[in-house]
Amino acid sequence: MRITHWISGKPWTGTAERSGEVFDPAIGAVRGRVDFAGQSEVDEAVAAAAAAFPGWRDASLAARSAVLFEFRALLRRRGDDLAAIVSAEHGKVVDDARGEVARALEAVEFACGIPHLLKGGFSENASRGVDVHSIRQPLGVVAVVSPFNFPAMVPLWFVPAAVACGNAVVLKPSEKDPSAANFLAGLWAEAGLPDGVLNVLHGDKAAVDGLLTHPDVRAVSFVGSTPVARHVYETGTRAGKRVQALGGAKNHMVVLPDADLDLAADAAVSAGFGSAGERCMAISVVVAVGGIADDLVGRIATRVDALRMGEDMGPLVTAAHRDRVASYVDAGVAEGAELVVDGRRRAVDGSGFWLGPTLFDRVRPDMSVYTDEIFGPVLSVVRVPSYPAAVDLVNANPYGNGTAVFTTDGGAARRFQNEIEVGMVGVNVPIPVPVGYYSFGGWKDSLFGDTHAYGPDGVHFFTRTKVVTTRWPDPSHGGVDLGFPRTV
Ligand code: NAD
Repeated sequence: MRITHWISGKPWTGTAERSGEVFDPAIGAVRGRVDFAGQSEVDEAVAAAAAAFPGWRDASLAARSAVLFEFRALLRRRGDDLAAIVSAEHGKVVDDARGEVARALEAVEFACGIPHLLKGGFSENASRGVDVHSIRQPLGVVAVVSPFNFPAMVPLWFVPAAVACGNAVVLKPSEKDPSAANFLAGLWAEAGLPDGVLNVLHGDKAAVDGLLTHPDVRAVSFVGSTPVARHVYETGTRAGKRVQALGGAKNHMVVLPDADLDLAADAAVSAGFGSAGERCMAISVVVAVGGIADDLVGRIATRVDALRMGEDMGPLVTAAHRDRVASYVDAGVAEGAELVVDGRRRAVDGSGFWLGPTLFDRVRPDMSVYTDEIFGPVLSVVRVPSYPAAVDLVNANPYGNGTAVFTTDGGAARRFQNEIEVGMVGVNVPIPVPVGYYSFGGWKDSLFGDTHAYGPDGVHFFTRTKVVTTRWPDPSHGGVDLGFPRTV
């Protein structure tokens, strides 16, 4: 199967100089080859978007929202087909992929309300005879660069808001699981989005760098690992673009001594091993506060042992990633962490990129299993003596994407949400991904830029504001006045 770019409403017909293999991680077989864009394909995709922009910018709000509503209906109808594609190339189990599609729908539904969201303000008589109003206008051509772990949801965090606001988009999905983006492009076309308003460009660093420096690209929304997010932010802003670059994570779940330990253990295992830990909001560190650690680790271990490979948890995305995650398990053992459940020992039939779930106890903050984002099925327990020590640990971490506190004490939870330096906080909720009418974003090394993804921040990011001050001539004229305009 050849997977190629989608430009001006149809598959690209050129010949690619470079391409990459796309695998089915469950069986380890090559599923297809994806074309990698060079500068000429970048130019072609951006030119297609630039040509489509003026017509789409001038389309009425009613016409734009009609496309959004139609896309929503199609996504609901074809959601299972999309989930099957995601599962086949990413490896996550089908039910998990369906959850991804369901969360993506929220961002589409929010963007359906674009006529309301783009309403500006109006102040009558700001000065005598003078009115002031504000307008939100689209930016032009915008680029979206997405990671492998949510090949449907992350593109749909941005594309609906971007097009609803009147922009034209070049989407560069991950080269590891590129087919979902093409499926989505087909659905947008079916929904009535004009050709060229959404283009899909496949490839690697060359494609991304081409977009980051292209003079006709006005803004870049990026999601991926922190080193690449930093590169994208620095390169894009240096080239004068608006950039939001969401990076990696190390999410802590703090369990206070008064917590319901069964609830906490369920949550830790669900959030640690769902999607084989390949989620930016996965819990990778459980912080056991006070004397509960032995009890909590026992309850978590029982649940980890019961996980069924292939049913609860899929394989990792590539062989290289599986080997990298396994090497962290080796390192954890070498550095002295206590290996409670060893995922390397889980045998799975076939030759896919499987690795079982691993649980470490007595992990220290200087160990690589703690310091690095592993992005796999490895859960670490760090023991701390007190609540302040837990907060200090979380706040000292360079990442600040998500965190959760488990407790039955409302006062402690309230204090936690105030003191913790993390962008998304759960109280007895392990994966606090905000609903579609809020916005998603971490703090510190988990996000470069100041605007979060989707929700109100999405509309803000994909538009720029203009303020118009108006006076219509009336019969009285005040004469020339060189003083700075005043309202009184
Ligand atoms: P990645 O950084 O390797 O790749 C992300 C995108 O950047 C891909 O499209 C890729 O082709 C491109 N890319 C890779 N290397 C590049 C380079 N050197 N220069 C320019 N572009 C480059 O990330 P990934 O492995 O696909 O995804 C996993 C990472 O994404 C994890 O770190 C995870 O935490 C993070 N993530 C973060 C969020 C969030 O919301 N903060 C959400 C999902 C994933």
